[in-house]
Amino acid sequence: MIPFVIWNRQNQSGPAGVEQHDDAAAQVAPQPQSVPLADALVETIPDPFVLVDAGGRVVAANAAARHLFAARMTGEHLSQQIRAPSILDTIGDVIETGVARTVSFERRTGGGRRFEATISSIASGLPDETAPAAAILLRDMTDRQHLDRMRADFVANASHELRTPLASITGYIETLQGPARTDQAAQDRFLGRMLEQAHRMRRLIDDLLSLSRVEMNVHRTPSSVVDLSEIARYACEMMTSASKAEDCKIRVDAPAAAPVTGDRDELLQVVQNLIENAIKYGRSDKGIDVIVRIDAARRKVSLSVRDYGRGIAEEHLPRLTERFYRVSEQESRSRGGTGLGLAIVKHILLRHGADLDIESRIGQGTTFTIAMPVAGELSAAAE
Ligand code: ADP
Repeated sequence: MIPFVIWNRQNQSGPAGVEQHDDAAAQVAPQPQSVPLADALVETIPDPFVLVDAGGRVVAANAAARHLFAARMTGEHLSQQIRAPSILDTIGDVIETGVARTVSFERRTGGGRRFEATISSIASGLPDETAPAAAILLRDMTDRQHLDRMRADFVANASHELRTPLASITGYIETLQGPARTDQAAQDRFLGRMLEQAHRMRRLIDDLLSLSRVEMNVHRTPSSVVDLSEIARYACEMMTSASKAEDCKIRVDAPAAAPVTGDRDELLQVVQNLIENAIKYGRSDKGIDVIVRIDAARRKVSLSVRDYGRGIAEEHLPRLTERFYRVSEQESRSRGGTGLGLAIVKHILLRHGADLDIESRIGQGTTFTIAMPVAGELSAAAE
Protein backbone atom coordinates (compact mmCIF):
# COMPACT_ATOMS: atom_id res chain seq x y z
CA MET A 1 0.00 0.00 0.00
CA ILE A 2 1.23 3.50 -0.79
CA PRO A 3 0.55 6.45 1.54
CA PHE A 4 -1.68 8.82 -0.42
CA VAL A 5 -3.12 12.14 0.68
CA ILE A 6 -6.74 13.05 0.00
CA TRP A 7 -8.90 15.88 1.24
CA ASN A 8 -12.25 15.02 2.72
CA ARG A 9 -15.45 17.02 2.04
CA GLN A 10 -15.01 19.31 5.02
CA ASN A 11 -11.52 20.25 3.85
CA GLN A 12 -12.91 22.34 1.03
CA SER A 13 -9.88 24.58 1.03
CA GLY A 14 -8.31 21.67 -0.86
CA PRO A 15 -4.63 21.27 -1.36
CA ALA A 16 -2.33 24.28 -1.03
CA GLY A 17 -3.00 27.01 -3.54
CA VAL A 18 -6.78 26.52 -3.87
CA GLU A 19 -8.65 29.60 -2.74
CA GLN A 20 -11.16 29.25 0.14
CA HIS A 21 -14.43 31.24 -0.02
CA ASP A 22 -16.68 29.46 2.48
CA ASP A 23 -16.26 31.20 5.85
CA ALA A 24 -17.77 28.39 7.88
CA ALA A 25 -15.53 25.86 6.24
CA ALA A 26 -12.57 28.19 6.63
CA GLN A 27 -13.01 27.91 10.41
CA VAL A 28 -12.08 24.28 10.12
CA ALA A 29 -8.37 23.90 9.72
CA PRO A 30 -7.54 21.70 6.70
CA GLN A 31 -6.91 18.19 7.92
CA PRO A 32 -5.05 16.12 5.38
CA GLN A 33 -6.09 12.54 5.66
CA SER A 34 -3.40 10.03 5.01
CA VAL A 35 -5.17 7.13 3.35
CA PRO A 36 -3.56 4.17 1.57
CA LEU A 37 -5.71 4.94 -1.44
CA ALA A 38 -3.42 4.81 -4.46
CA ASP A 39 -3.87 1.09 -4.97
CA ALA A 40 -7.64 1.51 -5.03
CA LEU A 41 -7.45 4.40 -7.49
CA VAL A 42 -4.98 2.59 -9.71
CA GLU A 43 -7.38 -0.38 -9.85
CA THR A 44 -10.13 1.83 -11.34
CA ILE A 45 -8.10 2.42 -14.52
CA PRO A 46 -9.23 -0.08 -17.17
CA ASP A 47 -5.94 -0.14 -19.14
CA PRO A 48 -2.70 -1.54 -17.70
CA PHE A 49 -1.25 1.10 -15.38
CA VAL A 50 1.99 0.97 -13.39
CA LEU A 51 3.65 3.34 -10.92
CA VAL A 52 7.42 3.10 -10.58
CA ASP A 53 9.88 4.75 -8.22
CA ALA A 54 12.94 6.73 -9.35
CA GLY A 55 14.92 3.49 -9.58
CA GLY A 56 12.39 1.87 -11.94
CA ARG A 57 10.97 -0.44 -9.26
CA VAL A 58 7.22 -1.08 -9.44
CA VAL A 59 5.36 0.65 -6.62
CA ALA A 60 1.84 -0.26 -7.78
CA ALA A 61 0.30 -2.11 -10.73
CA ASN A 62 -3.41 -2.42 -11.45
CA ALA A 63 -5.28 -5.62 -12.26
CA ALA A 64 -5.05 -5.00 -16.03
CA ALA A 65 -1.23 -4.73 -15.76
CA ARG A 66 -0.95 -7.79 -13.50
CA HIS A 67 -3.13 -9.72 -15.94
CA LEU A 68 -1.11 -8.57 -18.97
CA PHE A 69 2.24 -9.53 -17.46
CA ALA A 70 0.85 -12.48 -15.48
CA ALA A 71 2.80 -11.27 -12.44
CA ARG A 72 2.29 -9.51 -9.14
CA MET A 73 4.86 -6.90 -10.20
CA THR A 74 4.93 -4.77 -7.02
CA GLY A 75 8.51 -4.64 -5.67
CA GLU A 76 10.00 -5.98 -8.91
CA HIS A 77 12.04 -3.92 -11.34
CA LEU A 78 9.95 -2.98 -14.40
CA SER A 79 12.63 -4.42 -16.71
CA GLN A 80 11.61 -7.89 -15.51
CA GLN A 81 8.33 -7.46 -17.40
CA ILE A 82 9.08 -4.92 -20.10
CA ARG A 83 12.37 -5.59 -21.81
CA ALA A 84 12.13 -2.85 -24.44
CA PRO A 85 15.11 -0.53 -23.76
CA SER A 86 13.20 2.40 -25.34
CA ILE A 87 10.68 2.33 -22.46
CA LEU A 88 13.25 1.99 -19.71
CA ASP A 89 15.38 4.84 -21.11
CA THR A 90 12.32 7.05 -21.58
CA ILE A 91 11.22 6.54 -17.97
CA GLY A 92 14.60 7.88 -16.83
CA ASP A 93 14.29 10.91 -19.16
CA VAL A 94 10.74 11.66 -18.06
CA ILE A 95 11.67 11.57 -14.36
CA GLU A 96 14.64 13.85 -15.05
CA THR A 97 12.89 16.41 -17.27
CA GLY A 98 9.34 16.16 -15.92
CA VAL A 99 8.03 16.12 -19.52
CA ALA A 100 5.58 13.31 -20.36
CA ARG A 101 6.28 11.14 -23.43
CA THR A 102 4.59 8.39 -25.40
CA VAL A 103 6.57 5.52 -26.90
CA SER A 104 5.49 2.34 -28.60
CA PHE A 105 6.94 -1.11 -28.17
CA GLU A 106 6.17 -4.69 -29.06
CA ARG A 107 5.82 -7.57 -26.64
CA ARG A 108 7.03 -10.75 -28.25
CA THR A 109 5.33 -12.95 -25.69
CA GLY A 110 1.53 -13.20 -25.92
CA GLY A 111 1.42 -13.29 -29.72
CA GLY A 112 3.51 -10.19 -30.47
CA ARG A 113 1.16 -7.39 -29.48
CA ARG A 114 2.01 -3.72 -30.03
CA PHE A 115 1.58 -1.27 -27.16
CA GLU A 116 1.74 2.46 -26.72
CA ALA A 117 3.10 3.59 -23.32
CA THR A 118 2.40 7.09 -22.03
CA ILE A 119 4.94 7.92 -19.32
CA SER A 120 4.35 10.89 -17.01
CA SER A 121 6.47 12.04 -14.08
CA ILE A 122 4.99 12.31 -10.59
CA ALA A 123 6.32 15.15 -8.46
CA SER A 124 5.35 13.63 -5.10
CA GLY A 125 7.68 15.94 -3.17
CA LEU A 126 8.43 13.02 -0.87
CA PRO A 127 12.09 12.48 -0.04
CA ASP A 128 11.43 8.74 0.07
CA GLU A 129 13.28 6.81 -2.67
CA THR A 130 10.41 4.37 -2.90
CA ALA A 131 7.83 7.09 -3.64
CA PRO A 132 6.19 6.88 -7.08
CA ALA A 133 8.24 8.90 -9.58
CA ALA A 134 6.60 7.95 -12.87
CA ALA A 135 3.24 6.63 -14.07
CA ILE A 136 3.05 4.35 -17.11
CA LEU A 137 -0.24 3.87 -18.93
CA LEU A 138 -0.24 1.13 -21.56
CA ARG A 139 -2.65 0.88 -24.48
CA ASP A 140 -2.87 -2.20 -26.68
CA MET A 141 -2.73 -0.86 -30.24
CA THR A 142 -2.68 -4.24 -32.03
CA ASP A 143 -6.37 -4.32 -33.04
CA ARG A 144 -6.35 -0.66 -33.97
CA GLN A 145 -3.26 -1.16 -36.16
CA HIS A 146 -4.87 -4.19 -37.75
CA LEU A 147 -8.01 -2.14 -38.52
CA ASP A 148 -5.91 0.72 -39.93
CA ARG A 149 -4.08 -1.72 -42.17
CA MET A 150 -7.37 -3.29 -43.31
CA ARG A 151 -8.77 0.15 -44.10
CA ALA A 152 -5.64 1.13 -46.05
CA ASP A 153 -5.72 -2.19 -47.97
CA PHE A 154 -9.40 -1.68 -48.75
CA VAL A 155 -8.83 1.81 -50.16
CA ALA A 156 -5.86 0.55 -52.20
CA ASN A 157 -7.89 -2.40 -53.56
CA ALA A 158 -10.97 -0.29 -54.36
CA SER A 159 -8.81 2.29 -56.15
CA HIS A 160 -7.05 -0.43 -58.12
CA GLU A 161 -10.39 -2.01 -59.11
CA LEU A 162 -11.69 1.35 -60.35
CA ARG A 163 -8.46 2.38 -62.03
CA THR A 164 -8.32 -0.69 -64.29
CA PRO A 165 -11.59 -0.04 -66.23
CA LEU A 166 -10.86 3.68 -66.19
CA ALA A 167 -7.47 3.05 -67.82
CA SER A 168 -9.07 0.98 -70.58
CA ILE A 169 -11.76 3.62 -71.21
CA THR A 170 -9.03 6.28 -71.47
CA GLY A 171 -7.08 4.02 -73.87
CA TYR A 172 -10.13 3.58 -76.13
CA ILE A 173 -10.84 7.33 -76.15
CA GLU A 174 -7.24 8.05 -77.19
CA THR A 175 -7.51 5.46 -79.98
CA LEU A 176 -10.82 6.92 -81.16
CA GLN A 177 -9.26 10.39 -81.22
CA GLY A 178 -6.19 9.14 -83.11
CA PRO A 179 -5.75 6.05 -85.27
CA ALA A 180 -9.46 5.06 -85.32
CA ARG A 181 -10.75 8.58 -86.04
CA THR A 182 -12.09 7.60 -89.48
CA ASP A 183 -12.62 3.87 -88.94
CA GLN A 184 -16.35 3.31 -88.42
CA ALA A 185 -16.06 -0.43 -87.63
CA ALA A 186 -13.33 0.18 -85.00
CA GLN A 187 -15.39 2.99 -83.49
CA ASP A 188 -18.43 0.70 -83.02
CA ARG A 189 -16.25 -2.00 -81.47
CA PHE A 190 -14.46 0.35 -79.10
CA LEU A 191 -17.65 2.11 -78.02
CA GLY A 192 -19.09 -1.30 -77.10
CA ARG A 193 -16.03 -2.10 -74.99
CA MET A 194 -16.12 1.30 -73.33
CA LEU A 195 -19.73 0.67 -72.36
CA GLU A 196 -18.75 -2.71 -70.85
CA GLN A 197 -16.02 -1.04 -68.77
CA ALA A 198 -18.41 1.71 -67.66
CA HIS A 199 -20.89 -0.98 -66.54
CA ARG A 200 -18.09 -2.66 -64.59
CA MET A 201 -17.29 0.59 -62.79
CA ARG A 202 -20.98 1.10 -62.10
CA ARG A 203 -21.32 -2.41 -60.56
CA LEU A 204 -18.28 -1.82 -58.40
CA ILE A 205 -19.55 1.53 -57.13
CA ASP A 206 -23.01 0.02 -56.44
CA ASP A 207 -21.40 -2.81 -54.44
CA LEU A 208 -19.12 -0.42 -52.54
CA LEU A 209 -22.14 1.69 -51.60
CA SER A 210 -24.15 -1.41 -50.57
CA LEU A 211 -21.27 -2.59 -48.40
CA SER A 212 -20.85 0.78 -46.74
CA ARG A 213 -24.64 1.02 -46.08
CA VAL A 214 -24.71 -2.44 -44.53
CA GLU A 215 -21.60 -1.73 -42.45
CA MET A 216 -23.13 1.46 -41.11
CA ASN A 217 -26.22 -0.45 -39.98
CA VAL A 218 -24.40 -3.48 -38.66
CA HIS A 219 -25.19 -2.70 -34.99
CA ARG A 220 -28.88 -2.01 -35.61
CA THR A 221 -30.75 -5.25 -35.18
CA PRO A 222 -33.77 -5.55 -37.52
CA SER A 223 -37.18 -5.86 -35.87
CA SER A 224 -39.77 -6.81 -38.53
CA VAL A 225 -40.90 -10.35 -39.14
CA VAL A 226 -40.37 -11.53 -42.72
CA ASP A 227 -40.93 -14.84 -44.49
CA LEU A 228 -37.74 -16.54 -45.70
CA SER A 229 -39.77 -18.95 -47.89
CA GLU A 230 -41.36 -16.02 -49.72
CA ILE A 231 -37.95 -14.32 -50.04
CA ALA A 232 -36.44 -17.51 -51.50
CA ARG A 233 -39.25 -17.84 -54.07
CA TYR A 234 -39.07 -14.16 -54.99
CA ALA A 235 -35.26 -14.23 -55.35
CA CYS A 236 -35.50 -17.25 -57.66
CA GLU A 237 -38.09 -15.46 -59.81
CA MET A 238 -35.85 -12.40 -60.01
CA MET A 239 -32.92 -14.56 -61.10
CA THR A 240 -34.88 -16.48 -63.75
CA SER A 241 -33.66 -14.47 -66.73
CA ALA A 242 -30.01 -14.71 -65.58
CA SER A 243 -30.37 -18.47 -65.05
CA LYS A 244 -32.12 -18.97 -68.41
CA ALA A 245 -29.33 -17.07 -70.15
CA GLU A 246 -26.90 -19.56 -68.58
CA ASP A 247 -29.23 -22.50 -69.27
CA CYS A 248 -29.35 -23.27 -65.56
CA LYS A 249 -32.51 -24.45 -63.84
CA ILE A 250 -33.33 -23.19 -60.33
CA ARG A 251 -35.53 -25.37 -58.09
CA VAL A 252 -37.08 -24.09 -54.85
CA ASP A 253 -38.08 -26.35 -52.00
CA ALA A 254 -39.54 -24.30 -49.15
CA PRO A 255 -42.31 -24.69 -46.52
CA ALA A 256 -45.43 -22.53 -46.82
CA ALA A 257 -43.93 -20.01 -44.42
CA ALA A 258 -40.62 -19.60 -42.58
CA PRO A 259 -40.84 -16.55 -40.29
CA VAL A 260 -37.61 -14.82 -39.25
CA THR A 261 -36.79 -11.39 -37.88
CA GLY A 262 -35.06 -9.39 -40.56
CA ASP A 263 -34.88 -6.74 -43.21
CA ARG A 264 -36.59 -8.09 -46.34
CA ASP A 265 -34.50 -6.13 -48.88
CA GLU A 266 -31.23 -7.17 -47.23
CA LEU A 267 -32.17 -10.86 -46.94
CA LEU A 268 -33.32 -10.75 -50.57
CA GLN A 269 -29.91 -9.39 -51.50
CA VAL A 270 -28.21 -12.25 -49.61
CA VAL A 271 -30.23 -14.93 -51.43
CA GLN A 272 -29.79 -13.21 -54.79
CA ASN A 273 -26.00 -12.90 -54.32
CA LEU A 274 -25.76 -16.60 -53.45
CA ILE A 275 -27.91 -17.66 -56.41
CA GLU A 276 -25.98 -15.33 -58.73
CA ASN A 277 -22.69 -16.91 -57.62
CA ALA A 278 -24.12 -20.41 -58.07
CA ILE A 279 -25.09 -19.47 -61.65
CA LYS A 280 -21.74 -17.73 -62.34
CA TYR A 281 -19.33 -20.22 -60.82
CA GLY A 282 -21.24 -23.42 -60.13
CA ARG A 283 -22.67 -24.09 -63.56
CA SER A 284 -23.59 -27.66 -64.37
CA ASP A 285 -26.46 -29.38 -66.14
CA LYS A 286 -27.86 -30.36 -62.73
CA GLY A 287 -29.08 -26.79 -62.05
CA ILE A 288 -29.32 -25.15 -58.62
CA ASP A 289 -31.37 -26.03 -55.53
CA VAL A 290 -32.65 -23.42 -53.10
CA ILE A 291 -33.87 -25.19 -49.97
CA VAL A 292 -35.57 -23.64 -46.91
CA ARG A 293 -35.98 -25.78 -43.80
CA ILE A 294 -37.37 -25.22 -40.31
CA ASP A 295 -35.76 -27.04 -37.44
CA ALA A 296 -38.57 -26.81 -34.87
CA ALA A 297 -36.51 -28.42 -32.09
CA ARG A 298 -33.65 -25.92 -32.43
CA ARG A 299 -36.04 -23.12 -33.45
CA LYS A 300 -33.87 -22.35 -36.48
CA VAL A 301 -34.66 -21.55 -40.08
CA SER A 302 -32.03 -22.45 -42.67
CA LEU A 303 -31.75 -21.52 -46.32
CA SER A 304 -29.29 -23.34 -48.57
CA VAL A 305 -28.21 -22.52 -52.10
CA ARG A 306 -26.66 -25.59 -53.62
CA ASP A 307 -24.87 -25.95 -56.93
CA TYR A 308 -23.32 -28.99 -58.58
CA GLY A 309 -20.37 -27.23 -60.19
CA ARG A 310 -16.66 -27.81 -59.82
CA GLY A 311 -16.51 -26.77 -56.14
CA ILE A 312 -14.03 -24.65 -54.21
CA ALA A 313 -10.72 -25.92 -52.76
CA GLU A 314 -10.74 -26.03 -48.95
CA GLU A 315 -7.98 -23.46 -48.44
CA HIS A 316 -10.13 -20.73 -50.02
CA LEU A 317 -13.25 -21.32 -47.90
CA PRO A 318 -12.28 -19.26 -44.80
CA ARG A 319 -11.30 -16.26 -46.96
CA LEU A 320 -14.27 -16.15 -49.38
CA THR A 321 -16.14 -13.46 -47.42
CA GLU A 322 -13.13 -11.08 -47.34
CA ARG A 323 -13.53 -8.01 -49.51
CA PHE A 324 -12.07 -8.48 -53.00
CA TYR A 325 -11.04 -12.09 -52.31
CA ARG A 326 -11.58 -14.28 -55.38
CA VAL A 327 -10.54 -17.83 -56.15
CA SER A 328 -9.76 -16.75 -59.70
CA GLU A 329 -9.55 -13.04 -60.35
CA GLN A 330 -9.75 -13.52 -64.09
CA GLU A 331 -12.85 -15.70 -63.93
CA SER A 332 -14.60 -13.31 -61.53
CA ARG A 333 -13.82 -10.34 -63.82
CA SER A 334 -14.96 -12.14 -66.95
CA ARG A 335 -18.23 -13.08 -65.21
CA GLY A 336 -18.87 -9.48 -64.12
CA GLY A 337 -17.85 -10.08 -60.48
CA THR A 338 -16.61 -7.34 -58.18
CA GLY A 339 -15.24 -9.53 -55.36
CA LEU A 340 -17.63 -7.88 -52.90
CA GLY A 341 -20.76 -10.07 -53.14
CA LEU A 342 -19.91 -12.42 -50.27
CA ALA A 343 -18.52 -9.58 -48.11
CA ILE A 344 -21.95 -7.92 -48.42
CA VAL A 345 -23.61 -11.26 -47.54
CA LYS A 346 -21.41 -11.61 -44.44
CA HIS A 347 -22.18 -8.12 -43.14
CA ILE A 348 -25.92 -8.47 -43.70
CA LEU A 349 -25.91 -11.79 -41.85
CA LEU A 350 -23.85 -10.28 -39.02
CA ARG A 351 -26.52 -7.62 -38.56
CA HIS A 352 -29.18 -10.36 -38.48
CA GLY A 353 -27.30 -12.50 -35.97
CA ALA A 354 -27.34 -15.25 -38.61
CA ASP A 355 -24.65 -17.83 -39.40
CA LEU A 356 -23.12 -18.65 -42.76
CA ASP A 357 -21.78 -22.10 -43.49
CA ILE A 358 -19.95 -23.03 -46.70
CA GLU A 359 -19.51 -26.65 -47.69
CA SER A 360 -17.76 -27.59 -50.88
CA ARG A 361 -16.35 -30.67 -52.58
CA ILE A 362 -14.13 -30.44 -55.61
CA GLY A 363 -15.98 -31.85 -58.61
CA GLN A 364 -19.28 -32.13 -56.71
CA GLY A 365 -20.38 -28.59 -55.98
CA THR A 366 -20.89 -26.05 -53.22
CA THR A 367 -23.61 -25.34 -50.66
CA PHE A 368 -23.94 -21.99 -48.93
CA THR A 369 -26.27 -22.24 -45.90
CA ILE A 370 -27.56 -19.41 -43.76
CA ALA A 371 -29.21 -20.17 -40.42
CA MET A 372 -31.19 -17.82 -38.21
CA PRO A 373 -33.68 -18.07 -35.35
CA VAL A 374 -37.39 -18.65 -36.03
CA ALA A 375 -39.46 -15.55 -35.28
CA GLY A 376 -42.52 -15.94 -33.02
CA GLU A 377 -44.64 -19.07 -32.70
CA LEU A 378 -44.42 -21.75 -35.36
CA SER A 379 -47.71 -22.29 -37.14
CA ALA A 380 -48.78 -25.84 -37.99
CA ALA A 381 -48.23 -25.04 -41.70
CA ALA A 382 -44.67 -23.93 -41.04
CA GLU A 383 -43.91 -27.04 -39.00
P1 ADP B 1 -17.47 -12.02 -57.11
O1 ADP B 1 -18.02 -10.67 -57.39
O2 ADP B 1 -16.08 -12.22 -57.60
O3 ADP B 1 -18.41 -13.10 -57.52
P2 ADP B 1 -18.02 -12.83 -54.36
O4 ADP B 1 -17.62 -12.16 -53.10
O5 ADP B 1 -19.47 -13.00 -54.62
O6 ADP B 1 -17.29 -12.03 -55.52
O7 ADP B 1 -17.34 -14.27 -54.39
C1 ADP B 1 -15.95 -14.37 -54.11
C2 ADP B 1 -15.34 -15.54 -54.87
O8 ADP B 1 -15.84 -16.77 -54.33
C3 ADP B 1 -15.69 -15.57 -56.33
O9 ADP B 1 -14.82 -14.75 -57.10
C4 ADP B 1 -15.51 -17.06 -56.66
O10 ADP B 1 -14.14 -17.30 -56.90
C5 ADP B 1 -15.88 -17.75 -55.34
N1 ADP B 1 -17.26 -18.33 -55.35
C6 ADP B 1 -18.36 -17.76 -54.81
N2 ADP B 1 -19.43 -18.56 -54.95
C7 ADP B 1 -18.99 -19.67 -55.58
C8 ADP B 1 -19.62 -20.89 -56.02
N3 ADP B 1 -20.92 -21.12 -55.83
N4 ADP B 1 -18.83 -21.81 -56.64
C9 ADP B 1 -17.52 -21.60 -56.82
N5 ADP B 1 -16.87 -20.47 -56.44
C10 ADP B 1 -17.60 -19.51 -55.83
